Amino acid sequence: MLGRMMFMPLTIQSLIDHAARYHHETEIVSVETDGAKTRTNWRNVAARARRLNDALRRRGLAKGDRCGTIAWNNARHLECYFGISGAGMICHTINPRLFPEQLAYIINHAGDRVIFCDKTFLPVLAGLRGRLPGVEAFILLSGPDEEAARTLPGLLFYEEFIAAGAADAPWAEVEETDGSSLCYTSGTTGNPKGVLYTHRSTVLHSLVAATPDVLSISARDMVLPVVPMFHVNAWGTPYAAALAGASLALPGPFLDGESLARLIEAEGVNVALGVPTIWQALLRALDASGAKTTPLKRTVVGGAACPPALIAAFRDKYGVEVVHAWGMTETSPLGTVNNLLRRHGGLLEIEQARLRESQGRPPYGVELKIVDDQGHPLPEDGKAQGNLRIRGHWVVADYFGAGPGETLAEDGWFETGDVASISEDGFMTIRDRAKDIIKSGGEWISTIELEGIALSHPDIDDAAAIAARHPKWDERPVLLAVPRPGASITEAGLLDYFKDKVAKWQIPDKVIFVPSLPRNNSGKLIKTALRQEYGNVLSEAAEG
Ligand code: ADP
Repeated sequence: MLGRMMFMPLTIQSLIDHAARYHHETEIVSVETDGAKTRTNWRNVAARARRLNDALRRRGLAKGDRCGTIAWNNARHLECYFGISGAGMICHTINPRLFPEQLAYIINHAGDRVIFCDKTFLPVLAGLRGRLPGVEAFILLSGPDEEAARTLPGLLFYEEFIAAGAADAPWAEVEETDGSSLCYTSGTTGNPKGVLYTHRSTVLHSLVAATPDVLSISARDMVLPVVPMFHVNAWGTPYAAALAGASLALPGPFLDGESLARLIEAEGVNVALGVPTIWQALLRALDASGAKTTPLKRTVVGGAACPPALIAAFRDKYGVEVVHAWGMTETSPLGTVNNLLRRHGGLLEIEQARLRESQGRPPYGVELKIVDDQGHPLPEDGKAQGNLRIRGHWVVADYFGAGPGETLAEDGWFETGDVASISEDGFMTIRDRAKDIIKSGGEWISTIELEGIALSHPDIDDAAAIAARHPKWDERPVLLAVPRPGASITEAGLLDYFKDKVAKWQIPDKVIFVPSLPRNNSGKLIKTALRQEYGNVLSEAAEG
């Protein structure tokens, strides 16, 4: 042996231990479910997570057991992240916005033995209880609460539960490849699928997430994850914040624009993360309040395509940089993030702005490629469009409970279901979900691009482009648009607006104004529902 370096497993325990030791006073602000604002720090979060780890084991739960959480972004939920994984168990974050049947499916599929929940979700759990035979205990994330106990008899209370554990109890011994947390996909088609993250994948994801060209999280930041902790672990920010020793502002259930604007102002939040609809609401709130400035410097936007107009509005009105990112539950989620390279510094502002509209480049740790329907690689020239595949340290290999070989494509990569192009510089642009793209006479039209244009019109609040069946072209684009209140936009006016922005054959055949558009629990347009309702408008018109 020539020499050796120490081997230390990459564990979630090591993240929280680091935060507790070297960033102990760093503040965690939490808005509780009842609206109260509380303040704690990494030292206390770590001590209480250790108590939880001990209490779970004293109760007879063992390594690998799944513990569900149905909770907002708040300090106790943060403790669950570290306490459950620290006990060697699996922190299964459950999306409360799913239908009750899906909730029952997910909880039973995961085999959750206990469920930690916020008061908001008690009625739903009470209704489901009879269908959750494997759940031994429900634990309310609060002190004793008589009203809550009446809603769900037998309910335990977190403060009492963790009091049974010691603040200096050791963590469980784990291997870095052991499972640590579990998230289910939103299941727009078929049943939701579980993705089991490991300690190792989580630590590697956090290390990369904190770097300057990814989420850029440091010990000088106050980070606001608006993206829920039940949605791909709030994009990994709780772990990355512990690693970097950043402060967190956890907004609880108050996710409307005004509440977020107040929290940002009061706590000096300089970095925030969330889906585009959240930032549209924040922008409206800032505009309405007449605020001239905001402490916010950067928002990371992903989960759905970020409309170019949103980037421009934040930049021009408030000097806030919008960083566009792409990812999936299956990719932990960081797949790409949009930051420019040194040599782009010489480009004109307008050229830089155009580059920043794409979903960005893969950081170290993941690789992308686009392939045709037979799986052959396509050129990365910014023009060719194909099925996007990904592989990397934090990409799923087998879904939770799936047999070997059921999850990945034949080449061992993960098929994302997205259609994308990749430029020579590695900038990836999502054209569409494969099932949403419009196939018009053999040519493809990106619904995301049409929506981005519609949303840049000052009279349009929201927009969705869908494929409608067409007797001659198979499919043609139809645009559903929500006009801004008081606006007097017409169909002809909006179609005219597309004229110099896309090729003529890509301009929608029809605009239908609607009062609102359906979105799922993670802010994505529900296009299946829209196609069902409006998919025949062109063929009916042709027949009529
Ligand atoms: P998440 O839970 O992170 O939203 P899901 O697994 O529910 O992830 O959905 C992932 C899908 O969301 C991607 O395959 C892609 O279609 C879409 N998506 C995510 N980010 C973007 C983005 N920046 N632009 C366009 N689509 C996106």
